[in-house]
Amino acid sequence: MLWKMKQRQVAWLAEEKGTIHKDWGGRLCIALAFPNRYQVGMSNLGFQSVYEDLNLFEDIVCERVFYPEPEDLDLLRQNPGNLISVESQRAVHDFHLLAFSIAYENDYCNVLEMLSLAGIPPLAERRTSMHPLVAAGGVAVFLNPEPLASFIDFFFIGEAEALLPDFWECWQHFKNESSRRRELLKSLAREIPGIYVPSLYRVSYKPDGAIDFTEPIPASGIPERVVYRRADLLRAHPCRTLITTPNTEFSNVVLVEIGRGCGRGCRFCAAGFVYRPVRFHPADAVLQVEEESGRKALRMGLVSAAVSDHPEISSICETLSKRGALISFSSLRADNIPPSIIASLQSSGHQAVAIAPEAGSERLRRVINKNITETQIYEAAKVITEGGILHLKLYFMIGLPTETQDDLEAIVEMTKGVKHHVLKSSRGKKRLGTITLSVNSFVPKAFTPFQWVPFAGVALLKERARWIQRGLHKISNVRVHFDLPKWAYVQALLARGDRRVGMFLEKVALEGRTWQQAFRDVPVNPDFWVLRERGQEEVFPWEIIDNGINRTFLWDEYQRALHGEMSSPCRPGEKCIRCGVCERSTGCCSSEETTL
Ligand code: SF4
Repeated sequence: MLWKMKQRQVAWLAEEKGTIHKDWGGRLCIALAFPNRYQVGMSNLGFQSVYEDLNLFEDIVCERVFYPEPEDLDLLRQNPGNLISVESQRAVHDFHLLAFSIAYENDYCNVLEMLSLAGIPPLAERRTSMHPLVAAGGVAVFLNPEPLASFIDFFFIGEAEALLPDFWECWQHFKNESSRRRELLKSLAREIPGIYVPSLYRVSYKPDGAIDFTEPIPASGIPERVVYRRADLLRAHPCRTLITTPNTEFSNVVLVEIGRGCGRGCRFCAAGFVYRPVRFHPADAVLQVEEESGRKALRMGLVSAAVSDHPEISSICETLSKRGALISFSSLRADNIPPSIIASLQSSGHQAVAIAPEAGSERLRRVINKNITETQIYEAAKVITEGGILHLKLYFMIGLPTETQDDLEAIVEMTKGVKHHVLKSSRGKKRLGTITLSVNSFVPKAFTPFQWVPFAGVALLKERARWIQRGLHKISNVRVHFDLPKWAYVQALLARGDRRVGMFLEKVALEGRTWQQAFRDVPVNPDFWVLRERGQEEVFPWEIIDNGINRTFLWDEYQRALHGEMSSPCRPGEKCIRCGVCERSTGCCSSEETTL
């Protein structure tokens, strides 16, 4: 029956454009794993671009591996060792290196299970020279790798463009000699800033369970903290979709990263902080991606934390439109929607656009530093709907710090206000416009000003969701989607936990327990990591990483949040030293070429 899985992969390959096939002979063979299904992984721009980056090295062959489809899972569980790559359908355990690209904490269980399905011991300490080395990178582990520390040989902490050349140089000295894995790991940790080998660090705990300190094992010669590596985007090729396939959410769309990081400073946003400073790809480089695609793509998807903040966005949109390309945007700021973007949205046939107020009241938006006013949100709704796009999606979070009943009521009121504009613009049209609310539980993340804040709790979030549901259920043409607070709790545990959280992962991923059973079976209360407010001086598990942002800056931002004080956006070009990142980065937002 395993041949069915192979057939499925052959069918995927037949429908792909852009796949790289390389001969294995004499090369370093890397299985690049996405811990979710093919359809999800192939929509992930980071995964696609690392695949391309690795294969650009002449002496590396990189093939993709995904979490199995549901139809194949049982059989694979009965026959471990048969997890295979898409390109050559070779077993994962035949590769030299298995490297996971991890975007979401809730995929951590899939990482452990994929190791098991590949016939590789999930615990790093049980692996021998018979097994491939196991690495991980991606935004989830840049923020906090510790819950996976027992299962991963080494982490890539930072951006692939910056790290991979150094990694490859160091690896070559070992000539794929897997028997020297311990020496190789030590060399990687010692010689390459941004490589984190968790087995070379020892964590000490206080009697109350909090971390006392983390230190390198004696005489290892490795750094006390692992620096986050940043790429110089002015010199790097923009990340883009290399392989197109109809079997993905973005079928026939070429995604292209136009910028990385965000200078707005929203206090909840992990991606905005971890990818600081904000950096942009020059317009020429972005437009070149469209040229290289041979115009086979139906649509170009421009990707950035805030697409309209790109200093050349109007010229990018106008040039792409002149070339006949259809355009999509990953995100729009309500306070910055230039006419060129509206024109592109219209000519590209967009039916729906998303705005992210994040919080209903202006008070709470000040707390989270989402510096947009109610007037700007209504104006954005007006401009978009008058431009003929009648379906709006609004993103909100619940469980934010200092949130009260008034803030929930403000969500309902704002929805009514936006609906007013949608209806006004729908007049005389055959179909009425709609509003869809996406309401998600806030999870406090590492390296943000809210890293000290506890998760709001499942019961409270459920109650608040019910209240919003009741407040909106009689309003026509408004739909509301909520995430499940119980999964947000798990996400909070995995985002905020230390190495001991790996015990829960083992129970769920390897022993088949539910999360509730794992919470009962493991003799540590998960609330310790999820629901506890952290003291100012508490050592966080993720502080093994030095990502360049000053702790005092984050604490001050937290205090400003509690007082409802906003902070101004990044000030590129002004030799800003506020958070500390720019002083330690090159080719970033302090460059004259990139201004907001
Ligand atoms: S140093 Fe200033 S400009 Fe640079 S990322 Fe920090 S706040 Fe933004």
